[in-house]
Amino acid sequence: MHVLVLGAGQLARMMSLAGAPLNIQLSAYDVGSGNIVHPLTQTVLGHGLDNAIAQADVITAEFEHIPHSILDICQQSGKFFPATEAIKAGGDRRIEKALLDNAGVRNAKYAVIKTREDFDYAIEKVGIPMVLKSALGGYDGKGQWRLKNRADIDTIWQEMAECITSSDTQAIVAEEFVPFQREVSLVGARAKNGTIAVYPLAENVHTDGVLSLSTAIADQNLQQQAEQMFSAVAQSLDYVGVLALEFFDVDGALLVNEIAPRVHNSGHWTQQGAETCQFENHLRAVCGLPLGSTKLVRETAMINILGEDTLPKELLEMAGCHIHWYGKEKRAGRKMGHINVCGDYSGELQRRLCALAKVLDAQAFPAVDDFAKGFSV
Ligand code: AMP
Repeated sequence: MHVLVLGAGQLARMMSLAGAPLNIQLSAYDVGSGNIVHPLTQTVLGHGLDNAIAQADVITAEFEHIPHSILDICQQSGKFFPATEAIKAGGDRRIEKALLDNAGVRNAKYAVIKTREDFDYAIEKVGIPMVLKSALGGYDGKGQWRLKNRADIDTIWQEMAECITSSDTQAIVAEEFVPFQREVSLVGARAKNGTIAVYPLAENVHTDGVLSLSTAIADQNLQQQAEQMFSAVAQSLDYVGVLALEFFDVDGALLVNEIAPRVHNSGHWTQQGAETCQFENHLRAVCGLPLGSTKLVRETAMINILGEDTLPKELLEMAGCHIHWYGKEKRAGRKMGHINVCGDYSGELQRRLCALAKVLDAQAFPAVDDFAKGFSV
């Protein structure tokens, strides 16, 4: 079986690693250059979308910001999973919001802005404080504004107007500010026959808008709510593959923040913490194979390595500590790799995170440092 992934980043790389034991071969299509590359070595294997499609049995995607023209060609081949409609929803907040509303899934009150009149209407409907997000192209907190005071309306409008006019299809989605206690996400898979298998929820800590620490948690109440919303979204899209839902936890009630129609950073912990990792389950789903068990096998947390290309050697000697580099060139803030940390009995994961905090640079890994400080209180 040969799977083509649209996108040649770390997610295609980890899918390639997970597919090898099942004899699933992967190649990646670099949407920017049009090159077909090996997902591990980045060696150029060929060029052009038609060639890439012709060689593949199945096509999938590792990110949602893909030109619709490319998605439409892939859809026409009949090989693309999940449906391109799902990828388009993940890449456009307007489509995403409409999808959530149609599936009856709770999400923050919102309004779409194209003009200054729309902005005034949004202020009335959504209220201040509000979070303003570009409909297209924004991720990891980029392309966002916070309106906290009426005095800032004109300044923010000027910045947003520049963003809106940058392209015919761009707009802003204004959302009510949600006073959440924490952020959690649910990663799960849906097979071609409609079977759904979800992982335990992960609690997510962000640093400057980027995920920094993600820990699998056991919370029956939240898990139940999240699973119900996951099924509603997955079924409404007749989804095939791994899907992630990000939530705000407001006093024990979940609200969907956004959906990611792909394997997700908050699911990387499954490589060591679950019976079958998210990357393998995505491949199983899109290849029409039965899903693997999503059972938690040990408590696990994932730490993102942001903008660093070396780690203290001690980490390699620490039990339960697994390093995953992505082979990327170093750039400030870039996702360079992650560390999965596991514990086999209650309290061991926390103890190991505290031990890690002692050897990791606190400035580069603030979430781990904060965790250790909170734990020792
Ligand atoms: P997003 O790109 O939508 O995931 O937003 C990035 C981060 O901004 C989220 O992880 C939240 O921490 C925060 N955020 C996004 N939307 C809201 C909202 N409506 N209310 C409060 N915080 C938000």
